[in-house]
Amino acid sequence: MTFVLKEILVRQSKAAIVGAGIVGLAHAWSAAERGCQVTVFERNSRASGASIRNFGMIWPIGQPHGENYETAMLSRTRWLRLSTEAGLWVNPCGSIHLAHRPDEWIVLQQFRERAEFLGIACELLTPEEVQRRTPAANFHGLLGGLYSPTECCVNPREATRSIPAWLAAKYGVTFHFETHIASVESIGDDMCGRTNVRVTTSLGDCEHFERAIICCGADMQSLFPNVLASSDMKRCKLQMMSVRGHGTGWTLGPHLASGLTLRHYRNFEICPGIEDLRKRISDETPELDHFGIHVMASQNNHGDIILGDSHEYGADIEPFDKASVDELMLRELRKILQLPDWTVAEHWHGFYAKHPTLPVFEATPEPGIHLCTGTGGAGMTMSFGLAERMWDRWTDSNPFSFPFSFPTSFRWNKD
Ligand SMILES: Cc1cc2nc3c(=O)[nH]c(=O)nc-3n(C[C@H](O)[C@H](O)[C@H](O)COP(=O)(O)OP(=O)(O)OC[C@H]3O[C@@H](n4cnc5c(N)ncnc54)[C@H](O)[C@@H]3O)c2cc1C
Repeated sequence: MTFVLKEILVRQSKAAIVGAGIVGLAHAWSAAERGCQVTVFERNSRASGASIRNFGMIWPIGQPHGENYETAMLSRTRWLRLSTEAGLWVNPCGSIHLAHRPDEWIVLQQFRERAEFLGIACELLTPEEVQRRTPAANFHGLLGGLYSPTECCVNPREATRSIPAWLAAKYGVTFHFETHIASVESIGDDMCGRTNVRVTTSLGDCEHFERAIICCGADMQSLFPNVLASSDMKRCKLQMMSVRGHGTGWTLGPHLASGLTLRHYRNFEICPGIEDLRKRISDETPELDHFGIHVMASQNNHGDIILGDSHEYGADIEPFDKASVDELMLRELRKILQLPDWTVAEHWHGFYAKHPTLPVFEATPEPGIHLCTGTGGAGMTMSFGLAERMWDRWTDSNPFSFPFSFPTSFRWNKD
């Protein structure tokens, strides 16, 4: 089939996206760019899930080398496109992992050696070089840092809530907010062999599509709970804080991460020293392992410093935030950072679903219906790239799978 014919076929298809978090928005953008008629359903009046509660770190350096890293870099390119095309604030600030302990410095050196061969851009900094890049590193006991130029900062609250308006204006994507989807079902092919997916709201209204992408984040109970329950994914709760910028013009510079972070992201698993570092931390400070604490800082376009985070999984999750966890995070943050003012302005928590090994959990429980969740702590980093890869796969491998549209009349009625 020629590219032109395939493009025409895709151009005529209708896609439903459930969830207007970053994963849903990424799919809406990729589908709309390929010419689909896209409708997004979101149960809240505006996005309120993990996608507005995070650091806003676009963090390719945290991804293992290979496909994951490349997907993160593809996402990064798309965030930078959003900056020019949609006027979003995207700061290509880079990142520094700080080392205040010898085993942390060893892991950073080992990573730097390997990064050279893997084509990952990064450099080791002396304490003085760290100081030249950021006023925020605690110089006391600082052994050095690993600088990476690829990380970016976005304001998650503003980005996640303004992308819908841009998608609607540029591509005609339709958004139905305050619309809870109660069921999504494949009801067979129509007479022309087109997949027919029925999307039904909790009020009983329904519409038909050729394809539906379910991007419901940490909600694993509502749609296809049986598939999600057998996926090995876990729900995770994270506590976060922010410190006001006070309009002083003080800038953090790059995102900053501590030595504790080295045991959190999979990229550092290629370093032989990581096991000694893990052991030392769990022997010295088991409370940090217990609450999954590693500490990082980012700064948004209003100067506010976002600080976090902790990780509690599954049955350990309580609705109540623990002051003791915030205190532990602040204790560790003070070891690596110096801020002009430590007065905490906001405390909050967020949830995500995380697959133990995959960057995203995908499943096709019925023809034309795709689940896409489980991006864990890297959804801002990965979603745009993951959505691109999925839509390339869907349109390239089986261009006839959702080729034709239903008549354009909007079937927004009781079925
Ligand atoms: C505290 C915290 C810090 C993080 N920091 C970072 C970071 O700095 N960098 C990074 O890359 N990642 C980070 N992450 C991870 C990232 O935020 C998530 O991976 C990502 O936001 C998940 O996006 P999502 O669209 O799957 O989920 P969500 O943002 O939760 O969106 C899901 C949406 O689906 C809607 N929905 C659910 N069910 C239905 C239904 N039946 N009908 C209609 N709508 C429905 C919900 O209302 C919600 O709006 C962080 C996460 C947290 C919690």
